Order: sequence, then C-alpha cells, then structure tokens
Amino acid sequence: MIFKFKSKNYEIIDYEKPITRDIIVFCRKGYQKNQRFFERNSSFFKVIVCHSEAKFKKEMKKRYLPMAKGRTLKNKIVIRGPKEIIKCHKELGGAKSFNGVIAHEMAHLFEVKYFGERGEPMWLNEGLADFVNVGKRKLKIKEKDF
Ligand SMILES: [Zn+2]
Repeated sequence: MIFKFKSKNYEIIDYEKPITRDIIVFCRKGYQKNQRFFERNSSFFKVIVCHSEAKFKKEMKKRYLPMAKGRTLKNKIVIRGPKEIIKCHKELGGAKSFNGVIAHEMAHLFEVKYFGERGEPMWLNEGLADFVNVGKRKLKIKEKDF
C-alpha cells in the first residue's frame, strides 16, 4: 500500500501508514514559512515519511545517519513520522516535533534555489535553516547583501 498527497510544490509519500491531516498541515505551513522568507518557490520535491528504522535506512541509502530525524537529499526529504521524532527527541534533543524538522529540511531545498548549486558552507546552510524556522524573523536578507 502506498499513500500519497500531492500539492503544487511537493508530494508527500508514505509506504506504511495513511497520511494524517497533521502531516499535511505541517508540510503546508513549513512550506509557506520558507516561501515567505526566501521570496520564491523551491523546485518540486518529494517528502517520504518513515515510521520504522528499516524504512528510514532504506530511503536514505548511503546517507543514512541513525541520529537524524530527517534529511534532505536531491529533491527529496526523508523524514521520520511525528511519533518517531518525539521518541528520537527524548534521546537526542534538537528539533522536537515533526513541524520543526520538516520546516528545517524544506529550508535546505529553498537554499539551493536561493544560492544556486555552488554549495554554501554547512554552517550557513544549517544556521539559516534554523534561523528561518526557529529564530527571529525580523532580519530580512536580500540578494544584494551577498
Ligand atoms: Zn539541516
């Protein structure tokens, strides 16, 4: 069984469970937040929701990290389900909910659109993804500032 939810900018795919309304809303809000900040759309991408370690590992392939809650691969976000993220958070800390993790991962796809494929340093990509989604949003970064 495969469950799918498609929007204009992304498609949510779950091979294990039906996609809940919460997941749909968290994805939409995360997308809109990034869209406002970066003032553009991302390229179309897929969100693969995983509820088991085996599925998470399989989807991440060589980029598998047991500690990760989610990871952005090319045009694809692999993310643990909401319950699995809460479980992970107790052990590892960091973003504590599905909405925080999905918004952070989506930011990486907007960064590719914003900076291009030239590969910004990791501290900038990670810092900006957290800044957009948890930090103060008063500061507006414009392209001319770079
Ligand atoms: Zn990140």
